[in-house]
Amino acid sequence: MIAKLLIANRGEIACRIIRTARHLGIRTVAVYSAADQQAQHVQLADESVFIGPAPSAESYLVVDKIIAAAKQTGADAIHPGYGFLSENEAFADACASNNIIFVGPPTSAIAAMGSKSAAKSIMSEAEVPLVPGYHGNEQGLEKLLAEAEQIGFPVLLKAAYGGGGKGMRIVESAKQFKEALASAKREAQAAFGNDKMLVEKYLTKPRHVEIQVFCDQHGNAVYLAERDCSVQRRHQKVIEEAPAPALSERTRQAMGEAAVRAAQAIDYVGAGTVEFLLDTDNRFYFMEMNTRLQVEHPVTEMVTGQDLVAWQLQVAAGEPLPLSQDQVQLHGHAFEARIYAEDPHNDFLPSTGVLHHLRTPNPAADVRIDSGVVEGDEVSAYYDPMIAKLVVWGEDRATALRKLLQALDSYRIAGVRTNIDFLRSIARHRDFAQANLTTRFIEKHEKVLF
Ligand code: ADP
Repeated sequence: MIAKLLIANRGEIACRIIRTARHLGIRTVAVYSAADQQAQHVQLADESVFIGPAPSAESYLVVDKIIAAAKQTGADAIHPGYGFLSENEAFADACASNNIIFVGPPTSAIAAMGSKSAAKSIMSEAEVPLVPGYHGNEQGLEKLLAEAEQIGFPVLLKAAYGGGGKGMRIVESAKQFKEALASAKREAQAAFGNDKMLVEKYLTKPRHVEIQVFCDQHGNAVYLAERDCSVQRRHQKVIEEAPAPALSERTRQAMGEAAVRAAQAIDYVGAGTVEFLLDTDNRFYFMEMNTRLQVEHPVTEMVTGQDLVAWQLQVAAGEPLPLSQDQVQLHGHAFEARIYAEDPHNDFLPSTGVLHHLRTPNPAADVRIDSGVVEGDEVSAYYDPMIAKLVVWGEDRATALRKLLQALDSYRIAGVRTNIDFLRSIARHRDFAQANLTTRFIEKHEKVLF
């Protein structure tokens, strides 16, 4: 068993991990930068270690500082949360060479999924269906254009090492290809230090449906159903739900089994998410695998009644999975809305400042708020400006949606601008209520959502 856990993260996810650790009787260590001295995660943890200046490149992203903090406090395990070092091979390796349990998959699995192109090759071997496209090594303009023509326009250019929707360009025709490629490469180089590109068929009306998988160290693997994350803005998730509306049991099972095949193909251990695009004809295609806990994991927890962080810690400690596949059951429906300090009327730019007033809906069994801030805290420019994840549960989708709207209505925030009105207009939209969703939902209804 793990005795002391260091959480190499901040904000809501650090707080969320600390709560489960405490529940399991594990002592906790927070790390914090100069901007986070008073932060909730520091107050919640049993101990805390200062790791440097506010910019994350000088604190939360510095492998040596995190390892030193773990050694100094005698932590025997590190949970990386999401973002920061969670998918960093060097960090997972550094944990191993210092005899610290990394709460995540083996380095080899992180490496295998770190490049979208290498991941596609492995998945194709494992007979997981892929979006048609080119994921080879030849990167010259002529070759990529020829591939695009072969695939057929529109195509999507995607950074092989990308994430967060960056380094992607939709290309409608051969005429636009050269310029789009150059700008996608520039963006990818700046953001990920690598400009390798994939070319994919651009699906025009897909849904984003992802499968939560879990594997232990003894060769057991299960899938904990799916999440529909189709409501996106610039390829970033805005509202997620579980289960995916109108997904047949047959498709759910086929996707689940493909996701487990994907995980087993790379000897996966721990929590992982296999992301698929689901086309209008119910065909699904592998996009990528995220080798960490996802932001949106709470909707899965709400409908399965499981604590995924507890699962992660148990698996990391060498215990077998708590459930077998036929013991996984779904109850009701859950939504998550990401509440951000940002200005929808100014291109969603982060809105920084002090949260002078923060009134949240009342937490209850069916209303969960994962947050790392309280009234009086500052939303700074240094980190992701998420204020909270609002998660609701209902016996069915319509009930859950009513609760989502009620909860959004009862939020009161002063001091920063937020996206709450924007979330409300999405949740109130008739197409959303009817689960008439594609990844272009927001784009399509842009005029009425603002
Ligand atoms: P990232 O790692 O940057 O998040 P993903 O590969 O996960 O990139 O894709 C992010 C989103 O972009 C998807 O959820 C989907 O909305 C859209 N997308 C990705 N690939 C395609 C495709 N081939 N066709 C249409 N949309 C796509």
